[in-house]
Order: sequence, then structure tokens, then C-alpha cells
Amino acid sequence: MKVPLLNNRDDDWKGSPESIPYRPNKKVIIGVLTLLGIGLSALGFALWYVPTVGLKNLHPSLPYLFGALVGGAIVIALGGLVIMGVALIKGRIVVSSPAFRGVLIKLFLPLMVLIGGMVGIPRIKIEQAFIELNNRLVREMIRRRGRGFNPDRLVLLMPHCIQYDNCKIKVTRNVRNCVDCGRCEIGDLIDISDRYGVKLFVLTGGTVARRKLIEYRPDAVVAVACERDLTSGVQDAYPLPVIAIINKRPNGYCIETGVDIEAVKRALEDLLNPAPSPQTG
Ligand code: SF4
Repeated sequence: MKVPLLNNRDDDWKGSPESIPYRPNKKVIIGVLTLLGIGLSALGFALWYVPTVGLKNLHPSLPYLFGALVGGAIVIALGGLVIMGVALIKGRIVVSSPAFRGVLIKLFLPLMVLIGGMVGIPRIKIEQAFIELNNRLVREMIRRRGRGFNPDRLVLLMPHCIQYDNCKIKVTRNVRNCVDCGRCEIGDLIDISDRYGVKLFVLTGGTVARRKLIEYRPDAVVAVACERDLTSGVQDAYPLPVIAIINKRPNGYCIETGVDIEAVKRALEDLLNPAPSPQTG
């Protein structure tokens, strides 16, 4: 069956029996990173060129000194873009420090959305690339840390739209109210929560999610939602490591969505028992 590509939340696509494809497209990644590199280089040149006249009047060597500073910053930024490209396309993580993830979240993501918007790349594509890169960075960070987290320091956050629409049981206040009738994946998620010993919450929105994180102060999070909510959630939760899993939407957005249960298990395994990193030997 041909699965339609979802471009924007506003699309009138109402879903299919399968999940939507959500892997970031390599051409999109290369295009956005290249445009971002060109934009940053042009901005750096302008930042250097505009004040050079005034600087020259102060001292003839000042434009060169300032040029070296701006040039250094541009080289670092371009290096960051190359690292992101290699991570997304080749799957090889060269740098996985929390600081690099911070630069990705605070600087590169808004710039990618801005540049993507200017050239007509749908925001959802940028968010998919961001989520993929974030997850790879988090996984590699945990591997290089060399030990997993304590299960009682992890939380599993689910959107309430995952619940069967006609279920009369309120699970947002207490997920244990679910009687595991099998009509939605909440029963399976409770099973995972018990098996791994992690806390599970079904949430009505981002505000409640933030409140849970403040209340429980976990060491790491596995979150399931749509691209937009995951992106803002990862931004809000930084520096907390979050593995973000894009939901399934067989009926479109926000109604009887689903989750890849195996992906949730893999995320928890990676946070609890990280495999030794092949890159660190
Ligand atoms: S699995 Fe639980 S939450 Fe889902 S429909 Fe059944 S009782 Fe309701």
C-alpha cells in the first residue's frame, strides 16, 4: 500500500492502516545543512565587513584580528554542520557532548527551521531530522557514559491520544485504571513499565509533561508524541536527555494514535543497559 507523505499538520490526509513514514530524507538534510552553511558564512562576512572601516581607523591591524575571530567562529559553526550531516547520513557520532546537543537545540534547530521555511521545506521534515539527530546524540552520550540509569530515575511519557477514543476509563490521572482490554497500547505500555520498573504517565499536553518532569526530576525520559510536540518537549527539557519516538497516526493527528512498542523497549534498553560504544572502543 502506498503511504502518503505527510508534509504539514494542516494536510487533509486522514491516515492509513500503516504508520506514516517519518525517517528524515537525506536530500532534505543535505539541502538544509548546505543552505545553513552558506547563510552562516554570508552572515559572518557581513559581520566582519561592515565594521572594518571603523576598526581600521582605530588601528590598521584590528580588521584582521576581528576577521580571525569571526572566521574562527564560522569554521566552528561549519564544523558543527558537518558533524550533524555525518551523524544523520552516516549514523556516525563524532561529538556527543551535552554542550553540542545544546547548540543543536538552541541554535541550529531554530536556524534550520528559519532557512527551511525560506526555501519551502516543510517544518515537519526539519523536526524529523532534529529528532533523529537528538536521539543519536543521546544514545551515544549514554554509551560513552559507560553505565545506564537507574530504572526508578526514568520516566515514560505518552500522549493521551494514544488511548482508544471510546474508552470510558480515565488513564491520565492514573494509568493503572486501565483494565488492559487490548483496544489500545496502554495495556502493553503498563506491562513495559512494570517489566522495566520505570514510571509511566499518559498526559493531556505539554504543560502537564513539564509539571511531571519538575515533580519527578528524572535522569532521562522516553517520550512519544508527534514531531511538533516532541521537538518543543526536547527543547523544554534540555539538558535532560530525552529519547523521542514519533507516534503512529493511522487515523490522522490526535485521535487513536499508536506507538511502536518495540521502539519504546529499545529506547529503555539503551538508557538502562547501554551497549559499549564501537566508536570508543
Ligand atoms: S487498553 Fe486500557 S486504556 Fe486502552 S481501551 Fe482498553 S481499558 Fe481503555
